[in-house]
Amino acid sequence: MHAHNAAVTEIEELAPSVVQITVAFDDESFSFEPGQWVNFRFPDGVSRAYTIASAAHRPGAVQLCVRVGPGRGGKALMRLDAGAQVTIDGPYGDFVLPPNDGRKIVFMAGDTGIAPIRSMVLSMLANGDPRKICVLYEPDQRNILYASDFDPLARDGAIVHESGKIEVLIARNREAMTAATLMAAGFDPFLGRVADALHENGIDTKRLISETFGPMP
Ligand SMILES: Cc1cc2nc3c(=O)[nH]c(=O)nc-3n(C[C@H](O)[C@H](O)[C@H](O)COP(=O)(O)OP(=O)(O)OC[C@H]3O[C@@H](n4cnc5c(N)ncnc54)[C@H](O)[C@@H]3O)c2cc1C
Repeated sequence: MHAHNAAVTEIEELAPSVVQITVAFDDESFSFEPGQWVNFRFPDGVSRAYTIASAAHRPGAVQLCVRVGPGRGGKALMRLDAGAQVTIDGPYGDFVLPPNDGRKIVFMAGDTGIAPIRSMVLSMLANGDPRKICVLYEPDQRNILYASDFDPLARDGAIVHESGKIEVLIARNREAMTAATLMAAGFDPFLGRVADALHENGIDTKRLISETFGPMP
């Protein structure tokens, strides 16, 4: 693991206060596992953890999906322009797909917590992973991030994708979840609510594999 020089090639607004940043690496030494995050160092020296939202088969350029908060990272993001030179440390983290044991995977994501889930789902489909995939997504303000990826996949039956309040989605999918691998990502308040809802539905929270983004910005 070491620092990689990269250039920001595109900044796209996915929803109010949510941007997708595409970065292209100066060399080919970067690789990652779907679900991992990087330390993104802005040109002014501020650094923040962001999770890779793109699939792993094209690691030369990666996409990050970030909520722009009022803190120093958010302010640095607002100053960031396409063409900026940045430093990416990593990848880090063990929120990665467990080995295939034949069980369905139910992913739960809140807001930009969809980033690692999108990377895992796109990678599973690209690699022909035979496990069934269900994505339960709680958007912020009805902004379904990456609907243009997930909607066609759901229409074709490649995945199940449901959106709404996470408590409702967990209650509705309780039976399927009792025998599934459970993975959840998002900010602390979302993960707290996931744990409560699993508990209320009689699902052992110790089975949950989760990744926290820390406090809500
Ligand atoms: C593993 C991980 C993955 C994440 N992935 C995403 C993601 O994909 N999308 C997304 O929207 N958000 C993600 N976050 C949250 C993101 O890193 C920021 O916490 C969030 O954007 C708010 O940052 P801020 O600067 O606006 O707020 P601030 O309140 O200024 O900072 C928020 C947090 O930044 C961290 N921090 C503070 N100072 C430093 C420093 N000097 N160096 C490094 N970190 C510092 C602290 O944990 C602090 O709680 C992730 C967080 C973690 C821990």
